[in-house]
Amino acid sequence: MADIKISIIGAGSAIFSIRLVGDLCRTKEFHGSHVTLMDIDRERLDAVYNLATRYAKALGSKLHFEKTDDLERAIEGSDFVINTALVGGHAEQAIMREVGERNGYYRGIDATEFNFVSDYFTLTNTRQFDYFLEIARKMEKVVPKAELLLAANPVFEGTNLISRMSGIKVTGFCHGHHDVRLVAEAVGVELEDVDWQVAGFNHNIWLTRFRKGKENLYGRLDRWIEREIENWQAKDPFDLQLSPGAIDMYKFYGRMPIGDSVRNGSWKYNYDPATKRRWFGHPWGGVDTKEGWQWYQERLRESTERTFKLAGDESADLLKEFPPEEMSGEQHVQYIDALVNNKKTRLVLNIPNYDNSRKERIIPDFPENVYVEVPVTVDGNGVLPEVIDPQIPEKIVKMYLFPRWLRMEWALDAYISGDISVFKEILVRDRRTDSEAQIERLVVELAEANPAFAKRYGL
Ligand code: NAD
Repeated sequence: MADIKISIIGAGSAIFSIRLVGDLCRTKEFHGSHVTLMDIDRERLDAVYNLATRYAKALGSKLHFEKTDDLERAIEGSDFVINTALVGGHAEQAIMREVGERNGYYRGIDATEFNFVSDYFTLTNTRQFDYFLEIARKMEKVVPKAELLLAANPVFEGTNLISRMSGIKVTGFCHGHHDVRLVAEAVGVELEDVDWQVAGFNHNIWLTRFRKGKENLYGRLDRWIEREIENWQAKDPFDLQLSPGAIDMYKFYGRMPIGDSVRNGSWKYNYDPATKRRWFGHPWGGVDTKEGWQWYQERLRESTERTFKLAGDESADLLKEFPPEEMSGEQHVQYIDALVNNKKTRLVLNIPNYDNSRKERIIPDFPENVYVEVPVTVDGNGVLPEVIDPQIPEKIVKMYLFPRWLRMEWALDAYISGDISVFKEILVRDRRTDSEAQIERLVVELAEANPAFAKRYGL
């Protein structure tokens, strides 16, 4: 039995709270361990703590839960710190998006080529970046050997920022690769029988290997497209993996984009609502439109309300609500379990682009310090990245990953330097900008709406 301490920062998260707590309770090897739930929202924290302790009791799990709104107290003594916090929440991002839209930037300035995911802010997310570094610095002070698991977005910018600005080991987590299953199902095979790999950056991954035995399953996918694409209809705003947009990207790049990568194509798919509907289906046009995002916010609200409702109802059967045999599909707990309890597990993680055991870059086209999202095997010895074979096609590297990588470097450059001229220059390169006056107006309004942004850039 492990005796470790795990802290979850932003434990009230609509997306993660119950999933992570449930996975911890279900993993009996963690019995005896300590879990600290931390959030600045007392109401959410109390509700999640209530469910966590009741669920653990119902399962006979001997986890010790603690709750706090103090970051340092949560981190103290931790072996693993999981960050799921969204500082300022979806409301602050909505304000930033609105300022952008008012100034001619559809979906705001953070929604840009190769990154249209509506809560993956890389430019106006100052408080989120500040918090990433605050957590890392507190960890350096009190638990320098502990590891930070980053689930809060933007994972690509965040992992690179933290690893460059602190001595803390950080690993990025995302569940987007699970959509490989949808491509496998479409071509009539069980994912368990497929030999697959994905590779790229977070939210920018590509199905580089898709085989069953000697058969290259891309042949079957081509036949599926001929037969089915005309009949495709979105079931909900997230139903994008086999959308006309995804298939069009496949036809151009030669590999399938996976998961949120479909939301992160070029401008071609994202000029305006009508364009989005054409590629991502009616009526929403995918999740990154006004209607699609409203749909998602309603689901998040329902999830939070469910947490509160169950927390307030002591008679609720939590084992029925959260069946013990079902793991959530999030990788955080599996990762810690694999490392601490030496259970060999295949995961897809965001790690530095260097394979230490083979002494080579995982994706040869990028520097060693840049974080890449790739399949790995994790066990008591650590993380062993797979050799990516075949490698990512040159077209994807040059026309998709290079520009996305540069955008990450620009965003970090602007944030770290606090130099507003770098920030403005990034906007100069945005196709929606047509004058310097537009940028000047926008920056003034962003600074008025967001004091942390104003402070960072000395405005
Ligand atoms: P949410 O607003 O429901 O939850 C965020 C939580 O963070 C809230 O409980 C809030 O009170 C808390 N918080 C805010 N500031 C805090 C602070 N200073 N200290 C501690 N806690 C604080 O948001 P959500 O929809 O659950 O999303 C959370 C994050 O996860 C976002 O960044 C989102 O983009 C990201 N996300 C990641 C993945 C992934 O697979 N990596 C998937 C979905 C969402």
